[in-house]
Amino acid sequence: MIALEQLNRAAVADFVAALGAIFEHSPWVAERVAGMRPFKSSIDLHRAMAQAVLQAPAELQTALIRAHPELAGRAAQRGELTAASTGEQKGAGLNACTEPQLQRLTALNLQYRERFRIPFILAVKGHTPDSVIAALAERIAHDANHEHRVALNEICRIARFRLAELIEEPWGEAIMAMLEDLARFSETDDALSCSYLTPAHRATAERIREYMLAAGLAAHVDAVGNVVGVLPGSAPDARRVLTGSHYDTVINAGKYDGRLGILLPIVVAGSMRRAGVKLPFPLEIIAFAEEEGVRFKSTFLGSRAIAGRFDFKALDSTDAQGITLRQALAAAHLDVAAIGAAARDPAQVACFVEVHIEQGPVLLDAGLAVGVVSSIAGSRRSVVTVSGSSGHAGTVPMGLRRDAAAAAAEMVLAVESRCSADTGLVGTVGRLDVPGGAINVIPGRCEFSIDIRSGSDALRDAAHRDVCAEIQRIAQRRAVTVELTEVLEAAGVPCSERLQDAWAASVQRVTGSPARRLPSGAGHDAMMMASFTDIGMLFVRCGNGGISHHPHETMSAADADVAARVFEDFLTSFGCLAP
Ligand SMILES: [Zn+2]
Repeated sequence: MIALEQLNRAAVADFVAALGAIFEHSPWVAERVAGMRPFKSSIDLHRAMAQAVLQAPAELQTALIRAHPELAGRAAQRGELTAASTGEQKGAGLNACTEPQLQRLTALNLQYRERFRIPFILAVKGHTPDSVIAALAERIAHDANHEHRVALNEICRIARFRLAELIEEPWGEAIMAMLEDLARFSETDDALSCSYLTPAHRATAERIREYMLAAGLAAHVDAVGNVVGVLPGSAPDARRVLTGSHYDTVINAGKYDGRLGILLPIVVAGSMRRAGVKLPFPLEIIAFAEEEGVRFKSTFLGSRAIAGRFDFKALDSTDAQGITLRQALAAAHLDVAAIGAAARDPAQVACFVEVHIEQGPVLLDAGLAVGVVSSIAGSRRSVVTVSGSSGHAGTVPMGLRRDAAAAAAEMVLAVESRCSADTGLVGTVGRLDVPGGAINVIPGRCEFSIDIRSGSDALRDAAHRDVCAEIQRIAQRRAVTVELTEVLEAAGVPCSERLQDAWAASVQRVTGSPARRLPSGAGHDAMMMASFTDIGMLFVRCGNGGISHHPHETMSAADADVAARVFEDFLTSFGCLAP
């Protein structure tokens, strides 16, 4: 392996020599990008090299395609491939084809070469002989121009996999570059929006799968679109450690929410695999396809499937265009009948851990890069309608009024004051309306919402009780009536004590400071996973005042690096405390 920094500083000849084999027998690609150094990440380097290939004259492109060996072809059998190609073909099992597979491949290869006058090229990582044959059969039907582009695309994918084996770079920078890269797939040009099973969402899934394969993980996409990568352990039957987060986003989102908890483990797992570090258990990284509930108004579709709690009634729910979830799954070639099989057997799972940005200002305020989540807050949500009497703004004296909005204002302040009385408690009135109100009319009706959250159910319930009682007192004093409807009661989900302690010990070892523990005010995939296994979460500091679900959401490469080292320490220490 070679450090990216070293490549950035190397003489042009050394740079080209180091990267000359990334594109088969084509050092000109490295030559064309040498002047664009320094590269901030291997992803930037790869993008530059891919651009150089895609912008090269057609003859040069064709020569590059022709420099590639045939898959499982005669050259492979004679042992004439480059070392890289031999390893790649072996990885897909192409050195161990059955006789009928070999015959089919040979026949298709011949047909392909006759039709296009180029060898069939496929980035075989993640493929099996059968899927290679299927791809070959499908691509023979392309027109020549289209197939030329597909071949170049595959060559660029091969280059990504080869670069991953060659280049070493700081974890934080690598993670940030991958986060930027994923944010390029969006439903809108000027912002990041990635909702379930849209083309942008599926492209994101494909790129995540490519990252997993590049890290050397076995990767597959399950029946709801979760992308799952596995790093095998030294004891294949040991209970698995699951980690991950979601890759869908809200509309006009930040780049870090969810995705950090996918890409950070991939970077750490890839690094461990290349270093030959074997964990005593398999590590499974799950990129959950859906958490935010944007498209079908149904949240946690990805983690519900893994937890065996998928709500099959949701298949008939529709998006804004009237497309049902069932239709969207079919269009994405996902098999509804296989959703049940995505569920994990709790007996085979040791725990689920999730790395996530804090989405709030607590760590930023405390000057800490990371923190350990103590619990995920549950919430109680209510809708309140205050009824007084309407009247003319000019004729009813102040003392004779029953103003619903003025009463509601006092109630809003009561929510604020009660929820300020305890730490670990938050209360919000997010909606406040005077239906049909007018500037010259005393409000006869006012409606508002209350959202009270805490990591402690007891604290939250006590606050809810007190707020309700205070609202009644205010109503009585002001001679208005109130109707309070509770619309949601979700219990908080505590993080396992032993996982909190393990995270805290890792934070202490890596940062040298004691870990701050804090509750999560936002919901996470871990909540759903808690239905069948122990959960633990690590929060990473947000910048910009902790803003999230917003394009201004941010975090630093330095913090990503600390979090990655804490995650590595957690994994390597975990074997000791597994039951
Ligand atoms: Zn999230």
